[in-house]
Amino acid sequence: MGDYKPDAVISPVPATIGDPTQKDTPQNHSSVLYHQLRQKPLNIVGGRGSYLVTDSGQEILDATCGAAVACLGYGDSRVHEAIMEQLQKVPYCYSLYFTNSAAEELSQILVDSTGGKLSRAFIVSSGTEAVEASLKMAVQYYMELPVPQPQRCNFIARKQSYHGNTLGSLSVGHHVGRRALYEKVLAKNVHHVSQCYPYREMKDGETVEAYVARLAQELEDKFQQLGPDTVCAFVAETMTGTTLGCVPPLPGYLKAMKEVCERHGALLILDEVMCGIGRSGTLHAWEQEGVVPDLQTMAKGLGAGYAPIAALLVNQHVVDTLTRGTGAFSHSQTYQGHPVSCAAACRVQKIIQEDNLLVNVREMGEYLGQLLHETFEANPHVGDIRGRGLFWALEFVQNKETKEPYPPSEAIAWTVHKTGLKPEYSISLMPGNGGIDGISGDHICLAPPYNSTRAEIEMIVDRASRVIQEVLG
Ligand SMILES: *Cc1c(COP(=O)(O)O)cnc(C)c1O
Repeated sequence: MGDYKPDAVISPVPATIGDPTQKDTPQNHSSVLYHQLRQKPLNIVGGRGSYLVTDSGQEILDATCGAAVACLGYGDSRVHEAIMEQLQKVPYCYSLYFTNSAAEELSQILVDSTGGKLSRAFIVSSGTEAVEASLKMAVQYYMELPVPQPQRCNFIARKQSYHGNTLGSLSVGHHVGRRALYEKVLAKNVHHVSQCYPYREMKDGETVEAYVARLAQELEDKFQQLGPDTVCAFVAETMTGTTLGCVPPLPGYLKAMKEVCERHGALLILDEVMCGIGRSGTLHAWEQEGVVPDLQTMAKGLGAGYAPIAALLVNQHVVDTLTRGTGAFSHSQTYQGHPVSCAAACRVQKIIQEDNLLVNVREMGEYLGQLLHETFEANPHVGDIRGRGLFWALEFVQNKETKEPYPPSEAIAWTVHKTGLKPEYSISLMPGNGGIDGISGDHICLAPPYNSTRAEIEMIVDRASRVIQEVLG
């Protein structure tokens, strides 16, 4: 449980996992268990480019690719064709007995994209599954070293992070709202250190170097507290996603954290489920940090939403250890290396290359950042504007001087999201809350498609600004 204090969530504050302002939808006869049980969400019947179309014909500008997933936008016929072709060849085969060409090709693309530093791919169907696999891989790795280290059973992760929703991945994450109910059954071998969150945690007058050194010392202290040789791995999102809201790592931060891990022989697991595979401007967000992880997860943009898919990439030295050890990863899933998902992801990755989309992510990302600064810098309720690539967030405050957040009961982020869906705005914005301490803090994230045009970026900022004007005045 680390520093996590369950008492902090036993409060009258609405759960931070959903929409506390939901209203009963009359005559809701659906059989679907909606995320908000009492309220029927809009029904999406089509999609074109950056737009989603509802059953009433409303066209919604999707400024977030869903959950940073649909990175090519909707309706790319090249991906449809690749999926159809694979369906006709082989829709499924069981990875315990067989391999398939689509999984082979996708794994090769992913390994090549790391310059071979990560040398094998383990392909599953969701980010959560990739994270679970990374944790199990880390445990197995220490058992298969020439001199096994069975005492390594602790994980260190970061507060206000998200790594998935099964019990294992939820344990390494620190999303207070999603953990609260399950706290009593979460793993007790996970410990949490601070985020790299300069807006609120860098002290007045502190340099970047001093702040980074302070965070590295905190990690070092945690290793010492647990016993350095009991730690399996440090787990972090390279760029923190929705829980904290698109916070890029400060220069030197991940390098410093990796040094601490190396000093004590622990692995570095970078979770790039959200920020990876192009979202940050490079295919892997770690490329900008001068570190190579031992294990890396990716998912959301990998198949661009055309099929559920995720991957764990494994560093050469970990592969070598397992190869010389038992020679088998003690973990598998029925839909592992699913041919149709792999074919979709292969095509998506080739489109990113063919259409030179990483260049567009960097250029449009810079433009989006510039427009956000121009539009919101003077706004008294936008405390921080941050991001990288096509992954940006605005953090809302009541008072810019004191950085005082809105009361959680006002559900500002959710209200911004819901207001955006009104026909006069028709924009989908990603709400996030609890970034400060798990309960307070409101932000929205923007994660538009990699092929966004300048006009679309301008439209996103214009609509977002009108929505924020209506909600915050
Ligand atoms: C979304 C997310 C996950 C979980 O992925 P799912 O596909 O929802 O299971 C894990 N880690 C990070 C960083 C994420 O953003």
